Amino acid sequence: MITLGTLVSSIIPPRCLQCRQVVMEDHSLCPACFKLLVFIDGYNCRSCGLPLGKAGEHIGGFRCGSCILNPPNFSQTRVPFLYDQYSRKLILSLKYADRTDLTNLIAGLMLKTLDDVLPSIDLIVPVPLHWQRLFRRTYNQAGLIAEKIAQKTGKKLLLSGLKRLIATPPQGKMTAKQRRKNVTNVFTVPANRHSLIIDRSVLLIDDVMTTGATVSACTKALLQASARQVIVCVFARA
Ligand SMILES: [Zn+2]
Ligand SMILES: [Zn+2]
Repeated sequence: MITLGTLVSSIIPPRCLQCRQVVMEDHSLCPACFKLLVFIDGYNCRSCGLPLGKAGEHIGGFRCGSCILNPPNFSQTRVPFLYDQYSRKLILSLKYADRTDLTNLIAGLMLKTLDDVLPSIDLIVPVPLHWQRLFRRTYNQAGLIAEKIAQKTGKKLLLSGLKRLIATPPQGKMTAKQRRKNVTNVFTVPANRHSLIIDRSVLLIDDVMTTGATVSACTKALLQASARQVIVCVFARA
């Protein structure tokens, strides 16, 4: 049967989202571009997602030293890729270059890491942008990814589950300590959202995780609003 989709793709063939070479499937990367992304294999910290390499085999329950000493407030982190020049390029394109066509690919790859935890998730919440930044950029990349994951899983989406009270400066060149300070008390669950969060298991979505300061500050707000647990899912981990 010829569907509208096959008809369109026979006239306009799908192209690699990165290099624009013709590919078989819509919303995908060509094999060469896909190969450049570095998958984090099974050995990453279950708590914070930190890649552990082979050392992970010897660490009880796949937790990094830092999480064993100071367990984070979120219960797990799921992440498919290492944050390097290639995953960074995809994220920056989505974030600043209006490449919202990347959302489907990014959300699909993140979803692959969630198989076993999905049944326990009640609600999907993205890390929010401050309204001024949202106004300038017109969309929140974490919100787009969260929306797509909700669409693919049928899980409930709460785009306004968290609110950013202050437009914090970019964290790019900050140390871990500065980042923690930068996002302290920046997030809150709006009062009229509390009833939707209470006793829920929340999947918190962001694009990138470096020190974990942002997701930890978001988790703090969600737990203060009596969320049962928070599982973090990001596209790339530094
Ligand atoms: Zn390509
Ligand atoms: Zn860890």
